Amino acid sequence: MPDSPPRYKRILLKLSGEAGVGGDGFGIDPKTLGAVAEEIAEVARAGIQVCVVVGGGNIFRGAALAETGMERASADYMGMLATIMNALAVQAALEKIGVYTRVQSAIPMEAICEPYIRRRALRHLEKGRVVIFAAGVGAPFFTTDSGAALRAAEMGVDALLKGTSVDGVYTADPKKDPDAKRYDTLSYKEVLSKDLRVMDTSAVSLMRDNHIPIVVFSIRERGNLLKVLKGEGVFTTIA
Ligand code: UDP
Repeated sequence: MPDSPPRYKRILLKLSGEAGVGGDGFGIDPKTLGAVAEEIAEVARAGIQVCVVVGGGNIFRGAALAETGMERASADYMGMLATIMNALAVQAALEKIGVYTRVQSAIPMEAICEPYIRRRALRHLEKGRVVIFAAGVGAPFFTTDSGAALRAAEMGVDALLKGTSVDGVYTADPKKDPDAKRYDTLSYKEVLSKDLRVMDTSAVSLMRDNHIPIVVFSIRERGNLLKVLKGEGVFTTIA
């Protein structure tokens, strides 16, 4: 069978802190980080323009600390700082294997990365650089899912790829329920009305309003990102 061409020219890859850099534990797992960098590199080398958003849950989630009594906004700012650390980790891992990258933060931090400037980010993509967006939307009470959806819309991507440790969206948690079934396709409306928790409702709504499909797939399988972008293998498309 001839090799299928990729379906998308420009994508945004959203990874949670755990899926992207953390593995199963706290902090940064070099093995997970290296494997994720290989996935991104393969796709960038195939000529696809890639934006990346990594969460911060492997280090810090604002809501958790807010429950212990800290002011939510302060806790969320700490969460955003965690996403900047992860973005720098992904950048280092990609540059180690020869992929040009830029990190842009929604909270300006000149000494370590660029501030978010939409037109500049577009230019980087056109030049073949992977652009990693850090600090979510730059405001508390949001998550990096919302940040990913916002940047996906601003960059005019063809699809938002959500890499997880399972190969799509299931009727129940497949790690706990052996009868759980995977959906091949879902509508945005089904995701919202069935409360499937693929991404935040605000992220799903933004993708619906801007007609950007969300593709949920496993980032844990070697070579899977490029495969999924060619429409091969196992994944769930929300459109
Ligand atoms: N955060 C925020 N605003 C944003 C993005 C992130 O306040 O626009 C904070 C929030 O506290 C969140 C933390 O950063 O819990 C880490 O991000 P997230 O929970 O999305 O990470 P993930 O679950 O994807 O690893």
